This record gives sequence, C-alpha cells and structure tokens, in this order.
Amino acid sequence: MHELSIAWSIIDEAKKIASHNNASILQSIEVDVGQISGIDIDSLKFILRNISRDDNTIKDCIYKFNIINVTKRCSRCNNEYQVSRLSEICNICGCTDSTVISGNELRIASIEI
Ligand SMILES: [Zn+2]
Repeated sequence: MHELSIAWSIIDEAKKIASHNNASILQSIEVDVGQISGIDIDSLKFILRNISRDDNTIKDCIYKFNIINVTKRCSRCNNEYQVSRLSEICNICGCTDSTVISGNELRIASIEI
C-alpha cells in the first residue's frame, strides 16, 4: 500500500531529526499534503496510529496534516493562481497552458520534540 511506505518515510525522517536533536520522544509531527498528491490522509492517519502504538518514541505523537491548495503558474503571463479544479484556466489572461507549482507535495512541515 502506497500510504504504508509514506507513513514509514515520515516516521523515519522525523526520528532522524529527533535523534540529531538528542530527543527520544516525538510530541507531534506536522505534515504538508498537497491536494492532488494522491494521498489518502485517513489511511495515512490510521497507519501512523498503528505503527506508533508499539514504538515508545512516537507512542503519544500527534499527527497534524495541512492540506496544500493547488497553485498553477500561467505559461503566458506568469500569473500564479489557486484552483479548485486542475482544469481551471488563468484568471487574468484566460490561457489554458500552465504549470502546477504546488499541490502535489508531501513533506514534514515541523516536528515537536
Ligand atoms: Zn495568464
């Protein structure tokens, strides 16, 4: 499952940061998840909770998720605009050609130790 490997990557990365800071307990992990990243946050939460249960470092860790909106940059006028649908056109010049510049990310935004 996609979310399972993501969950492990998040935990591994957060633990590395914790250990670099001589911390043995992680209080919380905040993750940015792009709207079109294809990640099922409910599954991810479920998996993280299950993995955390048997691990003292993250047993009581709180997971927070920030949904990152989709932003596109117009290829004609360089306007950057947020969209709710990928098919939305530039709201300044009406150009249909654009590049997605955010909305498909997955990254640790912060951790609390
Ligand atoms: Zn434009």
